[in-house]
Amino acid sequence: MTLSVPPVDIVRGACGHDCPDTCSWVVEVRDGKAERLSGDPAHPFTRGTLCAKVNHYLERVYHPDRVLFPLKRVGPKGEGRFERVSWDEALADIAARWRDIIEESGAEAILPYSSAGMQGVIQQASLDRRLFGSMGCTRLARKICGAVASAGLAATIGTGTGIDPEAVVHSRFIILWGTNTIVTNLHFWPLVLEAQRRGAKIVVIDPIRTRTAEAADWHVQIKPGSDAALALAMMHVMIRDGLVDHEYVSQQAIGYDALANRAREYSPASVSQTVGLPVATIEQLAREYATTQPSLLRPLIGPEHHRNGAMVFRTLACLATLSGAWKHRGGGLARSTHMLQFAALDIDRVEMPEVNQPGVRTLNMRDLGNDLCSRELQPPVRSLIVYGANPMVSMPNQHRTREGLLREDLLTVVHELFVTDTARYADYVLPATSQIEHLDLSPAWGHLYLALNRPAITPRGESLCNTELFRRLAHALGRTEPWLFESDESMLRAALASGHPWLDGITYERLWDEGFVRLNVPEDWRPFANGGFATPSGKAELYSETLREQGHDPLPWTGEIRTGDGLQLITGKQLQFLNSGYSNMDRHRRRAGKLFVEIHPDDARTRGVATGDAVRVWNERGEVRAVCSVSDRVRPGVAWMPFGGLTDASGTQQSVNVLTPEEPTDWGGGSGLYDAFVEVTGTA
Ligand code: SF4
Repeated sequence: MTLSVPPVDIVRGACGHDCPDTCSWVVEVRDGKAERLSGDPAHPFTRGTLCAKVNHYLERVYHPDRVLFPLKRVGPKGEGRFERVSWDEALADIAARWRDIIEESGAEAILPYSSAGMQGVIQQASLDRRLFGSMGCTRLARKICGAVASAGLAATIGTGTGIDPEAVVHSRFIILWGTNTIVTNLHFWPLVLEAQRRGAKIVVIDPIRTRTAEAADWHVQIKPGSDAALALAMMHVMIRDGLVDHEYVSQQAIGYDALANRAREYSPASVSQTVGLPVATIEQLAREYATTQPSLLRPLIGPEHHRNGAMVFRTLACLATLSGAWKHRGGGLARSTHMLQFAALDIDRVEMPEVNQPGVRTLNMRDLGNDLCSRELQPPVRSLIVYGANPMVSMPNQHRTREGLLREDLLTVVHELFVTDTARYADYVLPATSQIEHLDLSPAWGHLYLALNRPAITPRGESLCNTELFRRLAHALGRTEPWLFESDESMLRAALASGHPWLDGITYERLWDEGFVRLNVPEDWRPFANGGFATPSGKAELYSETLREQGHDPLPWTGEIRTGDGLQLITGKQLQFLNSGYSNMDRHRRRAGKLFVEIHPDDARTRGVATGDAVRVWNERGEVRAVCSVSDRVRPGVAWMPFGGLTDASGTQQSVNVLTPEEPTDWGGGSGLYDAFVEVTGTA
């Protein structure tokens, strides 16, 4: 007798993690089970490879620790003891308690808390916005990442984006500024190498000698937080030596004379100590940058995590403008493409801001701990619903977050795949789908391809995607408006029906068949070659009247560069983790090893510690235990630690965010996470 083998279905999808690459993938499904997930070789940007984090995604999907049923807390908060309950029981109880809270304190006492844990047009933000907005729940300012850089750039060029990153192959001088491309923007790196093959020079500006810095032609090892000072000194040299593109600047920018006066204050000699670089290095960098066209600045996440983060990005946009590089293919500045994708899609049709209750307060996500603990906040936050986020690990000042989550009178609901650090404090943990179990539209923030993520398998256990969770919550709350129950497909079709020319011919059906399509942005797209800046003046604003009206310096300056006792703490991603995702998986934990702190040999010597020593890393906010790693990869005066869900070496479930501050950035609403100073002390 021959056994019939069920056929394999091939389902196209895309990674939903918070990563610029948004890799397209192919899932092979047999008899309802995903057997293989691999990169889609047809995708021109991601080219068939996934990263070390996602290569074994199916282990995550089928992991024995996945939350597959609604759970209700049975032990003390934080202990992580739960019992299984039905969806009906969980939703009925949550809805009843929310009704009581609303009656007693108003809907603002409920705080929906979400972030980029599941990126996509509808699973990240759609029915949740409609439901909570129409209820009048507190709004969340989601500003911890990206918003500062966008706001800084916008002050100069009117947008937080720049050129198409794929145009980097046409660049001849590429500065990767505060970005470890090989680790965090993997698929951009081959394009950088292609530019290098064509003759481009690759420069990395970073306090750490990252893998990317090691692979570059030139590593400029700047002091943390001094990026704007370096950019100003480069402008000083360009102005002094006649290297400014005056034709471009006179036609497309305003405020040149004022900026030139300001930049004269920042000679290489005067900033050398601030930036920690020899004068000759600054001079050479400025000259090569200005004279090797097309030159490209590629700043990503690093520089925005300082108190002066917005000013850094504003200043970099001024630098790109003085060089006139916007005129050239592959020249100017390339940052997130998120705004380009969202400008094309009809996002308002998806989120329906018109149903929002007016006059509702907004709380900033970076202040979660303080807001939960506040005695002044009226009404106090009485219920927190968390989805696509793990604030216990990802927000600064972790002790404060923990203190807030421990509040017995706080009803906390977490929608998740695993019992994360945040979920351990929940009253209810509700099972969430993985990316291969739901439908979504996946715009990338690192390129211009739009992908459709098709569900490859039915949701495991009783897990629900975000949109279905909010439909059921709306029903449990007695809501009946049809727009609270719109189907996923209907919302996706509406998002694509914006009429924007970049979406011409890009239909739901086409995406279903092909998996991804590039926006109809011209191949040779130079958005600011002839001006067209979306600023109030329509020009690049080297002097910004808007900033002056807001109480900021209208001209670029160094911003407030924080100094402090001890070592400046820089945190970064590791290969194995994506924020806290994957930190529960043995394969990734084994490869990552124990939490470590990396310091320079000079700093290790003065502290009497060596590689392999158990150390305390501490400051006024708290301490973590780590293993010491001594290396000249880091500058003297700097301590580098990986962030994410790593528990410390003594297993007390504290991450580096115990040590980071929640103080706001200059503007843009972020947090100066990298303005933390720590001491490293041996424990022997
Ligand atoms: S995390 Fe980034 S690089 Fe890795 S598979 Fe997802 S999109 Fe690709």
